[in-house]
Amino acid sequence: MNRGGSLKTSLFFLLSLILLQASLVACGKDDTKISTEVGLVDQDLADIQEFNSQGAARVDSEKKQIFTKLFGGRSGADLLNFFQSRVKYWITDETEDVRFPNRFRYVGWLQDPDPRMLASLSSNESKASMMAANLSTEWWLHSLLEGVPVRVSIRGETVQVNSMRDGIIYVAPDYKETFEIDGEQFDWPAAYRQGVLIHEARHSDCTGGIRPSDIALLKRYTSYLQVSEEFPRKECGHLHSLCPRGHDLAALPACDVAPWGSYEVEHYFIQAAYYNSKNFQEQQILKAVAADTWDRILKPSTGDPDMGSSGLLGAS
Ligand SMILES: [Zn+2]
Repeated sequence: MNRGGSLKTSLFFLLSLILLQASLVACGKDDTKISTEVGLVDQDLADIQEFNSQGAARVDSEKKQIFTKLFGGRSGADLLNFFQSRVKYWITDETEDVRFPNRFRYVGWLQDPDPRMLASLSSNESKASMMAANLSTEWWLHSLLEGVPVRVSIRGETVQVNSMRDGIIYVAPDYKETFEIDGEQFDWPAAYRQGVLIHEARHSDCTGGIRPSDIALLKRYTSYLQVSEEFPRKECGHLHSLCPRGHDLAALPACDVAPWGSYEVEHYFIQAAYYNSKNFQEQQILKAVAADTWDRILKPSTGDPDMGSSGLLGAS
């Protein structure tokens, strides 16, 4: 068996099933107890500090200093700072039972436009999975819609989501060290998981802020399809769009239309990690991940990225 070739083609399939989207959290997860180790996130963050800046320099030279513009520099310390300024907590269960309020009135905007989508997600033939999700992005928007603060209890500490930068990330069971194809086990490169963390961190940016009129729109929407097609402020939280007809992930919220979204930020990190890699198998995986993230960007961004985050703006 040509192990390399098989790995490459199977990876394409596997990656196309991995979805990273906050809006799927509420409906896509079952209630089984989760045993993912938060320790793996800690380890990946410790390792990111050793990130070799040579790959970043190569991305910078190819793409108008984009790595430095996105992450504030090329070093592991810069990457860690990018993450830590956007994510404060990572949890392995959704703490639904200790969230206040525990029910939201305005949930139409998160409704799945097509019930068949979720059916296909949970069917056996399509083992779509989610590695992580940024819960606070959704919760902060909920707090604006409901007009009340959202609080969660995390390991005994009560945390109030006052801004998108109060990042709380859910780490799913698929955030793990290995994956299996045809009964054979392979190691995920740490950079793959680190890319997921970077992706989720970008969801903590309410780039450009949000206005009361935008909140009013979200209150009126009855499906995520409307958010995808009509919401003018997707940069606030870098909300994904539904992938278009003909795309491998058609109708799933796994594509970006708004500029400098989570997939594009993740893509350039992975590209740099690919350049750094000295291991053939790892290179193959990272190349596939880079291609997969690029496929989800429907309109490559131009100009300089705005990496800021604002809150609720005034009317007008
Ligand atoms: Zn995402």
